Amino acid sequence: MSNTSTPLGVRPVRAFADNYIWLIESPRVPGRVVAVDPGEAAPVIAELNRIGASLAAILLTHHHPDHIAGVPELLRMGPVPVIGPDDDRIPGRTRTVRDREPCELPDLGLTFDILHVPGHTLSHIAFWGHGALFCGDTLFSAGCGRMFEGTPTQMSASLNRLGGLPPETDIFCGHEYTAANLRFALTVDPANTAALEYRDRVARLRAADIPTLPSRMSLEIRVNPFLRCDADAVRAGAEAHAHHPLREPTEVFAVLRAWKDQFR
Ligand SMILES: [Zn+2]
Repeated sequence: MSNTSTPLGVRPVRAFADNYIWLIESPRVPGRVVAVDPGEAAPVIAELNRIGASLAAILLTHHHPDHIAGVPELLRMGPVPVIGPDDDRIPGRTRTVRDREPCELPDLGLTFDILHVPGHTLSHIAFWGHGALFCGDTLFSAGCGRMFEGTPTQMSASLNRLGGLPPETDIFCGHEYTAANLRFALTVDPANTAALEYRDRVARLRAADIPTLPSRMSLEIRVNPFLRCDADAVRAGAEAHAHHPLREPTEVFAVLRAWKDQFR
């Protein structure tokens, strides 16, 4: 896979209760931005006006309304490419992208590799490029998305694939779930010192109403139990919850995901 290390200018736009729509600045054309997963148009339009930028393209990771519902209104400002996975539940796409394909926006100086990451939904994709990962609802900081459509085997394979990206990768997730995810992570793996330190940092950020994202892969592989299903401490936590031995990391993942679904 190709990947360049140009640091991207990316700004968060808050939407709904806890969604982030990410605006990627073109490294080539000042004032042109790409919106990732615009579930709402109004906050995107407000931010474009505030920073004096215009929309150049839309990237979509999956079909859920809180990630795509703002597209029609954004297109009323003018047509732009709408790039997403092969799924009829995503209307208005102008370009369909598939696993391992390059997604090139040459006028903007942007290129992403496409990773098909089924699990949260079956057609979910992630965009990876310029040292950044836009992963929708597949990987969250200290957690992962619910499995609405996929199997534990699919979802854990998807997460392992993301976890294998370079440690310096910045991770732009679809939701601010970090604090709640860390409560679960530290229930599974209470002695994880990296997670304990991260919990304190996240608490300070959230108290100041600052996003905890982007995260970084080098942190996630230390604190995120769903990326650490092969670690002894995580397996032990999952076995204690399941009350039986778990041999394979995929079994550990399945127990953790079902446990998290019930966790409050
Ligand atoms: Zn979703």
